[in-house]
Amino acid sequence: MNNCIFCKIISGDIPCDKVYEDDKILAFNDINPEAPVHFLVIPKKHMGSIKDLKEEDCSLLYHIIKKISDIAKDKGIDEKGYRIVNNIGNDGGQTVPHIHFHVLGGRELQWPPG
Ligand code: AMP
Ligand code: ZN
Repeated sequence: MNNCIFCKIISGDIPCDKVYEDDKILAFNDINPEAPVHFLVIPKKHMGSIKDLKEEDCSLLYHIIKKISDIAKDKGIDEKGYRIVNNIGNDGGQTVPHIHFHVLGGRELQWPPG
């Protein structure tokens, strides 16, 4: 997808503060962090939102969740806890139409969100 900012990060056209990468996913720190730890995890395959997920993406989704868990351990937020956020569409607060999972931690997070 030519105009997608996250696809441009994947291709290297836009730099990022990389946290983790393999052949299927990329994790990088959010440019506007809302918590001491705030990184994003994206699939390398362009998908607009979870609405585009298909049954065959099941293992990709598992991989993302598993890696989030591993990275959270590496970053030392595992014991106190953290939050995974996936925004969908306008009312959900999604601003980048390439599926991404926010991972926030390092402070006590409030609930409910605004
Ligand atoms: P959302 O509002 O759920 O679509 O989240 C998009 C997130 O992407 C926001 O938290 C932005 O701060 C973040 N973001 C946008 N551009 C970049 C970038 N170039 N590098 C890192 N994070 C970005
Ligand atoms: Zn994209």
